[in-house]
Amino acid sequence: MLGALLGALPAGHATASDLPLHGISVALDPGHNGKNGASSSISRLVDAGGFWKACDTDGTSTKSGYPEHAFTWAFVAELQAQLKANGAKVYLSRPNDQGVGPCIDERGLFADRLHATVAISIHGDGGPDSGRGFEVIEPGMPPRRDNSLRPNLHQSALFGSELRQALVDVGHLQPSTYLGRNGVGQRSDLGGLNWSRVPKVMIELLNMRNRSDASMSTSASWRKSTAHALVVGIAWYLQGHPDTTSAKQLSFAA
Ligand code: ZN
Repeated sequence: MLGALLGALPAGHATASDLPLHGISVALDPGHNGKNGASSSISRLVDAGGFWKACDTDGTSTKSGYPEHAFTWAFVAELQAQLKANGAKVYLSRPNDQGVGPCIDERGLFADRLHATVAISIHGDGGPDSGRGFEVIEPGMPPRRDNSLRPNLHQSALFGSELRQALVDVGHLQPSTYLGRNGVGQRSDLGGLNWSRVPKVMIELLNMRNRSDASMSTSASWRKSTAHALVVGIAWYLQGHPDTTSAKQLSFAA
């Protein structure tokens, strides 16, 4: 329902503060790096939350060679445009799809420094040929146990469940047939999640190794409808939290 309402504001009448995501900021992390094969710079170990892990990896690709970094970059560009059109401020973890971006710890930390309202890391999976669909990954307690993280783990799980629902209801996407459960999983081994202190999830949007999912990964109309679903999911999450300053300003045009 809200999906139909979002974006329905008549452009000529809306002021900035009428936009449904006015006053919130979203940190987006397009997974991996534009420049692949930079193994010496991305293989150094970083603290991923109480254990050491490589700075980053090259990610996967479709069987015809479309790399994950290009997919995540194109998708985040679409999501950024839609979020801005609905009034949100958007921050990206890397500035372009050419160079080598920050390590996974920094991809977790940057949203906090910018005081983002919520954060999302976007990925495409390199799963089994027959597997399809998306998984929303919520953070679990990292090995560097820290009870002060608990409220944020709880908020991240709420955020993740709204995004999952929006992907199914609004984006008409299929939950993963091989990852998580009903489109949701939890992991504590991801530096990009372990270092975040704002509500954050990572989403494997599709399986780049599957023929059908791979064809979606290059589709502009798929990016558009899937990004729209995430915009709605973000709004749903914020609506459930009317005590936050930003959510007070949410009002949807009928
Ligand atoms: Zn990835």
